[in-house]
Amino acid sequence: MNSDIKEMLKKSIMNIKGVGETRARLFQKLGIFNIEDMITHFPADYEDRSSFKKICQLTEGESCTFEGIIMSKVTEKILRRGLTLYQVYIKDDSGTIIGTWYNQPYLKKVLCVGESYIFYGKIVRGFKTLEVQNPIYEKADRGEHKKTMKIVPVYPATANLSQNTIRAVMEKALEQVVGNLEDVLPLWIRKTYCLSDINYAFSNIHFPRSDEDIKNARHRLVFEELLLLQLGLLSIKTVLADGKEGIAFKPNRKAIQDFIGSIGFQLTNAQKRVWEEIEKDMESSRVMNRLVQGDVGSGKTIVAALALIKTVKSGYQGAMMVPTEILAKQHYESLRDIMDKHGVSTALLVGSQTKRQKSEILSKIESGEVNIVIGTHALIEDKVKFLKLGMVITDEQHRFGVRQRTVLSNKGLNPDVLVMTATPIPRTLALILYGDLDISIIDELPPGRKAVETYAVDNSMRERINSFIRKNVLEGRQAYIVCPLVDESDEIEAKSALKTAEKIAKEDFRDFRVGLLHGKMPSRDKEDVMQRFLGREIDILVSTTVIEVGVNVPNATMMVVENAERFGLAQLHQLRGRVGRGSHQSYCILYNEGKSKVAKERMKVMQQTTDGFIISEKDLLLRGPGEFFGTRQHGLPDLKIANLYRDMDILKKAQEAAQEILKRDKNLCLKENLKLKEKIAEKFKGKLNDVSLN
Ligand code: ADP
Ligand code: MG
Repeated sequence: MNSDIKEMLKKSIMNIKGVGETRARLFQKLGIFNIEDMITHFPADYEDRSSFKKICQLTEGESCTFEGIIMSKVTEKILRRGLTLYQVYIKDDSGTIIGTWYNQPYLKKVLCVGESYIFYGKIVRGFKTLEVQNPIYEKADRGEHKKTMKIVPVYPATANLSQNTIRAVMEKALEQVVGNLEDVLPLWIRKTYCLSDINYAFSNIHFPRSDEDIKNARHRLVFEELLLLQLGLLSIKTVLADGKEGIAFKPNRKAIQDFIGSIGFQLTNAQKRVWEEIEKDMESSRVMNRLVQGDVGSGKTIVAALALIKTVKSGYQGAMMVPTEILAKQHYESLRDIMDKHGVSTALLVGSQTKRQKSEILSKIESGEVNIVIGTHALIEDKVKFLKLGMVITDEQHRFGVRQRTVLSNKGLNPDVLVMTATPIPRTLALILYGDLDISIIDELPPGRKAVETYAVDNSMRERINSFIRKNVLEGRQAYIVCPLVDESDEIEAKSALKTAEKIAKEDFRDFRVGLLHGKMPSRDKEDVMQRFLGREIDILVSTTVIEVGVNVPNATMMVVENAERFGLAQLHQLRGRVGRGSHQSYCILYNEGKSKVAKERMKVMQQTTDGFIISEKDLLLRGPGEFFGTRQHGLPDLKIANLYRDMDILKKAQEAAQEILKRDKNLCLKENLKLKEKIAEKFKGKLNDVSLN
């Protein structure tokens, strides 16, 4: 890339005219540090001030631009203390309207009787005639109109940083770079996919002259963002799978049939289908890299068990890594029981074990005496050595990065890899997003599950909800109360949970046993609390979202979520999945203090469906770009403009383009692709750790 413009983009925003230290600090709150951050701070919306009407054509409810002459002096009327009304009559050759402002005394000085102005504002019905409320105005005879007669961007903003300021700074920033921005996309890609020039795209996404401009500019920028994402993902896939000869596991059908016969229930059709896909992969000599997606409770564990038994029956060892000790123990205990029956030895490896315990297990893994080991991050430590590792399974994949998966895999000679996740996303999207994995979906729950009844309530219901919790606990059930992440800092989060726990323990439920669980607790204490909850020594567990992943306490039937509006839908779905695991009817109570339409809409979705796939689709639709629930957790770059759900069509095209580019130039070494490569490396930097893009 031309080094001048590259340097310019990385310069601090203090280099933009009109930005000093105070403003810079405000912009930093929006994540804007350098000029590139500034110009990629895209509008969230636009205000169309370009449609121009005569006064007689204005109708109640619309926001519109019109020209008129000020017919009267500005009148001032104190409505009450702190609220003063200012009004003028405005007229053109078709009619009259009243302009209304509040608390703007300087208008008396600036609006001149007899002068012509252009106004833009919302038209409302006033006492006698139509009124235009708080209109923006500027003199009509000005050559170029700054505020009216055009489409105006509306930016994500923050306190003390007005739209006008952001617009003005944006204009200056663009002046400094537009014209010199370099296209990272090869010319043939731009031609094939009808993409506009990058300089056009940046000026028009911010200051468009028509809807058509917005559409073209946005299309170009979304395409580029998604293309970079796809290229990054596909490169990883190539690196992972490159020319590796994997293990061809034996068919051993009989052993598998025996195993299935011993588990005490029939596999669902979805489980059968997914197992067939895995079995086929395992028997081929290609290295398996497969993702199993299934909603909470869809029965992923048994599918993992099948893969493990097949591994062992073929003479290899298997490893299963999960994100928490609680989960490791649960998986270990349930797998140990079924594996024992088939003469397969299992072991648990977690951080809290004593040195002696660990070294004993480690030597058994190394000698091959242990067939299957289940554990936490402890599994990827250097000292863990396998005799013959053939299968690597990670559960609840979003807690692990590609790097950790790779480290574990490297302990064997190209073992097969199975990744399990309970984050359901639409298939089309999964196919693209998990560019580095093949995908199987368990889209069916085992028979006989009772749906969790869900209610969104507000604080006025607290007494009733409390007595409902009380009733359930008295009947022998248990409840979770989840408090939200109040701030990015864990400290505050912990405090909020602590406060709630104290209040609950002292006031609402003083006759019950209340426990507390939060991320800041030492893991030994967390284990202990969880174990006591499982053992029914705790009736009500107040916690932060640490319980979100996979924990199984079938006797817990109530999930109460405080400030549910602060959670993403997918997260609420995961939380709800913690109950409804036993034979008793379960309930999910969502305290919603969110007044916005979107907040209400989201609560409605939670009440209407328990289908994780539908929920994730709605989640995608209701959220803005970059907020997609998975991307951060998957270690993918944030999206600044694309919406993975709404821009599905562009996503498909971008994927096609990415494949075509890599087909022509696998390592992105051609001159035309160098800028692309540089940009991908920059975007994925630190996100995917040691997976190189070479
Ligand atoms: P998840 O997909 O959330 O990991 P699990 O594997 O923990 O789900 O399964 C949830 C529960 O459903 C477990 O108690 C498991 O034994 C049970 N289960 C799994 N598959 C079936 C099936 N086909 N029929 C009946 N119960 C099943
Ligand atoms: Mg599970």
